[in-house]
Amino acid sequence: MTPNTIEILEVGARDGLQNEPEQIATEDKVALINRAIEAGIRRLEVASFVHPKRVPQMADAEAVLEALPDRDDVSYIGLVLNKKGALRALETKVDELGTVIVASDTFGQKNQGQTVEEGIAVASEIIRLARDAGRKGQVTISAAFGCPFEGEVPPARVIDIARRVAEAGPVDIAIADTIGVGVPSQVEELVGRLREELPAMPLRAHFHNTRNTGIANAYAAARSGVTTLDASLGGIGGCPFAPKATGNIATEDLVYLLQQSGYETGVDLQALIRASEWLEGLLNRPVPSLVSKAGGFPSPKSDAA
Ligand code: ZN
Repeated sequence: MTPNTIEILEVGARDGLQNEPEQIATEDKVALINRAIEAGIRRLEVASFVHPKRVPQMADAEAVLEALPDRDDVSYIGLVLNKKGALRALETKVDELGTVIVASDTFGQKNQGQTVEEGIAVASEIIRLARDAGRKGQVTISAAFGCPFEGEVPPARVIDIARRVAEAGPVDIAIADTIGVGVPSQVEELVGRLREELPAMPLRAHFHNTRNTGIANAYAAARSGVTTLDASLGGIGGCPFAPKATGNIATEDLVYLLQQSGYETGVDLQALIRASEWLEGLLNRPVPSLVSKAGGFPSPKSDAA
């Protein structure tokens, strides 16, 4: 990828929908994923292989994968938090296993029953399982900017986690602001230190817009050298295990910002806006994104026909 290319990873079908109180039909999840693919997105979190009792919205993970088109140019990601989930996911056509290490013991135990140390061990094992099965493994360091229970998370801890899990060979390592407390100066510092520590490792970032800093943080991450940014169509989402968690940064808001700033994303903004409007109809409420309401700029003229 050229320095001015940023890959967009769409998380709407997993992080975006997992907190929806009403069960979303499998076919609607598949339609959401297909709309994102049609808009040009090539890497998507599509399901979570957690215990259905923990996250009932994700109980149809196998059915979602089964219904998705077979495409060599698209990478489907399944979230897995333990070996059992990994073995389930590897029975499907999932391309990547997404693992999570929570950077705080308290939140880690609430989210997935793991301390930081256990998280590193489990994620490393899952990444190796994925590689042995000819798939990819990736890792997200969650609560990397702060924990809802323990407060500030020292950057040194995040760097230590990244350095250790890198040994298992993930395709990338993400820092996630799960509760939306970080600001751009912190993003610059953390991404900068990770690049120094792990110069060959592609970095990804994942922001929630809880305090309206998500999009600014994403820009700071892009400028600091991440290769990939996570986002959800419409900006939907929230974590069932983090109090007052809000949605991801919106894919269409992010793509507008990046394209207008000279970055290549390979994504069609108008197709994203149409997908977001469709999503509002599905959820029967407005979504948080702003670009889906205001449109791109200058506004497209020939699209109206
Ligand atoms: Zn998230």
